[in-house]
Amino acid sequence: MNVLVLNAGSSSLKHQLVDPRAGRVIRAGTIEGLGSGRSHADAIAELLASLGSESVHAVGHRVVHGGERFVDATAIDDAVLAAIEAQVPLAPLHNPANLSGIRAARAALPSVPHVAIFDTAFHVRMPRRARTYAIDQQIANEKGLRRFGFHGTSHRFVSELAAGHLGRPLAELRVVSLHLGNGASACAIEGGHSVETSMGLTPLEGLVMGSRPGDLDPGIVLTLARELGVDGAEALLNKKSGLAGLSGVSNDLREIEARAADGDDGARLAITVFAHRVRKYIGAYAAVMGGLDAIVLTGGIGENSVTMRRRILQRLEFLGVSIDEDRNADAKVSDDAPIADISSSTARAHTLVIATNEELQIARETAAVIELTRGAQSKKPIPIAISARHVHLDRAGMDVLFGPGSELTPMKPLSQPGQYASEERVNVIGPRGRIERVRVLGPLRKACQVEVSRTDEFALGVDAPVRQSGHTKGSAPITLEGPKGTLQLPEGLICAWRHIHMHPTDAEAYGVVDGDEVEVAVTGGPRDLVFGDVIVRVNDQFRLEMHIDTDEANAAELDQGAAGGLRQPESQEPYTPASQGTATLTKKPRA
Ligand code: AMP
Repeated sequence: MNVLVLNAGSSSLKHQLVDPRAGRVIRAGTIEGLGSGRSHADAIAELLASLGSESVHAVGHRVVHGGERFVDATAIDDAVLAAIEAQVPLAPLHNPANLSGIRAARAALPSVPHVAIFDTAFHVRMPRRARTYAIDQQIANEKGLRRFGFHGTSHRFVSELAAGHLGRPLAELRVVSLHLGNGASACAIEGGHSVETSMGLTPLEGLVMGSRPGDLDPGIVLTLARELGVDGAEALLNKKSGLAGLSGVSNDLREIEARAADGDDGARLAITVFAHRVRKYIGAYAAVMGGLDAIVLTGGIGENSVTMRRRILQRLEFLGVSIDEDRNADAKVSDDAPIADISSSTARAHTLVIATNEELQIARETAAVIELTRGAQSKKPIPIAISARHVHLDRAGMDVLFGPGSELTPMKPLSQPGQYASEERVNVIGPRGRIERVRVLGPLRKACQVEVSRTDEFALGVDAPVRQSGHTKGSAPITLEGPKGTLQLPEGLICAWRHIHMHPTDAEAYGVVDGDEVEVAVTGGPRDLVFGDVIVRVNDQFRLEMHIDTDEANAAELDQGAAGGLRQPESQEPYTPASQGTATLTKKPRA
């Protein structure tokens, strides 16, 4: 399965085509310059064109804020889209762009499943004591002021890798996960669940970041708002604080480290404040969890800065944390080799450097949601319709039987779109006997075809081969008699191969493709039966339905107790949907 992972921002569309099972990135890139005359739809069209022959089986969308509503990755439908829209006030800078990306991608790829993966979902079930701000609770509840946390996809990904590396179930571990990049957050993960995280209602709280301050006395915010106005304060807190504000030069730790080495005081201050804040959180989170089994460092800084790691991790022996200086200096992680263990041999808690891979995590969660839906879907019964004997005519046959230029008169639509039962009927005549008034189905086709059951064959005195509809070449001869003439068909009589009509989305859901042979079990009636050799026919014009003939229906007594749904073989009504006949499907391996 190829999952297209989309991270739609206001000015760029980051994308990766990922095979989540193999953990392989097929293609990756960023389309820049959105917003100024170029829409998300334009970017998606450009992206899809660039994929060439690569197929996309599902799309995973990164969504920053899922509010309280979304505790897990969720398949997107119109209702989910509306619910994401409702979270916009919580993330006015991010969610609108995420939504534009989702809308454009759904329009461009309407037949593949789309799944939303939320940065907040991992933390939504944090304990109340951790998510509650100590302010007037009536106002907090009214305004939805609570701690949400972000970077959930990354914290989940690295903690799962850590558990795998340590060979212990995540459910038994207490992990402090440190995502240290341009945005930074710490997370206490106990038993696989986020029990505390440093970002709050917005991504401003917590650690020192590239250009955001993290924790502040709220009094500072009030002072800034008074002095600079609300917009000025917001800009200062989002863009001119953190490493950038402290160093006065850059939000890039590489540059800050280089300047610090040259004795720059602002750069040194930035480094020490950053490291101090992270250390404070490690201690706090060990206290929250009553101990610590592992620390994980990730993000651009966590994965790459040897000196920052050393600063952060010094003097933590009281927690059982001690690193091996050589291992720290040598640690190199990548998507292919994502884990470096830098613990010393005496450490009681492990320290791991792990390359995060949010796209892979999004692709995996997308695939998992689809598998779940598919599992539920594949247990979903297939409606069964019973085809009474019927006739399809071509133009020439119509002319002979009903007069030149005559047309079929639609009587009632059939379940498959565009098909109908007509008012017209013909007599079907074989060497042994005849069947009167057999219904003609419309519209006209390329060739005449008469579909009968095995019982009908005996009555007519012909052997009809079991064929798929349309495959009449070399089938049995038969004579048709209409009000205006008689038609001797050298071939065209078949016994229909039992089949299931599926829309491509059904086929995807059941995990089958056009031409597959499956078995269909009919249970819960008086004569349970498994139909073998059922052929799957996939077309975007089809609606999910299994078609069997009257003999087959009788064998399973599918008409038992039906309230006007199923019909007896004598009935002339074709394709009557079964009211109680439904079935489950098992795929048969191809020869
Ligand atoms: P991210 O947002 O995860 O891409 O992380 C970006 C941050 O990682 C920036 O502050 C970079 O300066 C920092 N970073 C990346 N590589 C290094 C490195 N080799 N040494 C120090 N910092 C680095």
